[in-house]
Amino acid sequence: MKIAIIGTGYVGLVSGVCFSDFGHEVVCVDKDPRKIEMLERGEVPIYEPGLDTLMAKNVEAGRLSFTLDLQSAIDGAEAVFIAVGTPTRRGDGHADLSYVMAAAEEIAKAADHYIVVVTKSTVPVGTNRKVQEVVAAANPGLEFDVASNPEFLREGAAIDDFMKPDRVVVGVETERAAKVMEDIYRPLYLRDFPIVTTDLESAEMIKYAANAFLATKITFINEIAALCEKVGANVKQVSKGMGLDGRIGNKFLHAGPGYGGSCFPKDTKALARIGQEHAAPISIVETVIKVNEDTKRRMTDKLLDLCGGSFNGKKVAVLGVTFKPNTDDMRDAPALTIVPALVGGGASVSVVDPQGRREGEALLPGVTWEEDPYAAAAGADLLVILTEWNEFRALDLKRLAGGMATARLADLRNIYAVEDAAAAGFTAYESIGRAGFS
Ligand code: NAD
Repeated sequence: MKIAIIGTGYVGLVSGVCFSDFGHEVVCVDKDPRKIEMLERGEVPIYEPGLDTLMAKNVEAGRLSFTLDLQSAIDGAEAVFIAVGTPTRRGDGHADLSYVMAAAEEIAKAADHYIVVVTKSTVPVGTNRKVQEVVAAANPGLEFDVASNPEFLREGAAIDDFMKPDRVVVGVETERAAKVMEDIYRPLYLRDFPIVTTDLESAEMIKYAANAFLATKITFINEIAALCEKVGANVKQVSKGMGLDGRIGNKFLHAGPGYGGSCFPKDTKALARIGQEHAAPISIVETVIKVNEDTKRRMTDKLLDLCGGSFNGKKVAVLGVTFKPNTDDMRDAPALTIVPALVGGGASVSVVDPQGRREGEALLPGVTWEEDPYAAAAGADLLVILTEWNEFRALDLKRLAGGMATARLADLRNIYAVEDAAAAGFTAYESIGRAGFS
């Protein structure tokens, strides 16, 4: 089957590569000539483990190609996936659907045969019906169906998530569209991965409800962590004790500096907005959004305390700026709140991140980029661990502390044990939801 994918970002490119690996003929389209040129040269514009190899394999096999030309991509395709961005709209918190609607219109104008227009982007309830209207208005004679197929992959583990999903959600209205979607996902049907078939609205709602639930779980443990600090409990022990309860589960129960990334912040805001507009406010999610902002601010206060009340003149080394490990994505990363607070407070900041520099250079002005944690920490007054990359999980703490002007560590991912930090010669150590020392 021939499939076209509109948008070659984290979701579109991974989906395109994986669909081609299923055996489909896939053409990926993007508006950005720089991305298409890179892809045509065999380079992957984003960092996603394993994507380069799988992409090369399928290009080599003649099943995967890239183009700026939507028309040629759609010729002969049975389905076209919209995988463009849906960022937060300025001002009102709503999802900005302008990219989705523009793509829908372009598809309609290019199509001359029955096609299923599949929305993979995360979109508010009712969007697929609007896509239906836009396509029908732009090409009144066209035979087509719409389908909602939200994506649940996680950056950093995207290929595995796509190939071995917990479930695939497909919202459809006609048998014909259901059959096309079934053919596309046949390799997953055959391997018994659950495919949840729903109406359009439910598919759209599942995605927002799932993301908001996960953001709530993270925020819950972050608030418990703040209380642990006050009452002398250890949040690592608390989350272990909670997570072993099968009804709760241990995932998304790690306290940290607040959630970030390309999905949770914008999707929680969009869901809250949808609730308000339908006079069915999702108060829990509204609170989660606020608490997450407070959590990020609390991190800055923690660093300020460690620096004796002022960043001015201090040298601070920051390990990790991407919103999580194994991605180069900086969208809404906690580093975007914390690092500017350090720089704005007069600190000189050096930063190390295995993949974050390309994006981070423009987003974090005034910092010095280093390749090596030990070089970054040399002469520093404070070392901050902000993203739990594997590269930062087994550092020689003694060597780090030995090279610092004042050996203070803020371990905002709870990677290290308090005793180990003390034994290594740190004179001050703070983490999340556990007693530190100074
Ligand atoms: P992205 O910003 O990385 O990529 C979007 C791409 O679409 C860009 O390359 C852009 O140039 C291209 N584009 C925009 N309009 C176009 C058009 N008319 N024609 C061709 N190309 C066009 O976005 P992303 O992170 O891949 O997210 C895409 C959607 O998937 C969003 O709705 C997001 O919420 C959702 N999602 C993202 C993730 C994730 O982890 N990133 C996970 C699940 C769902």
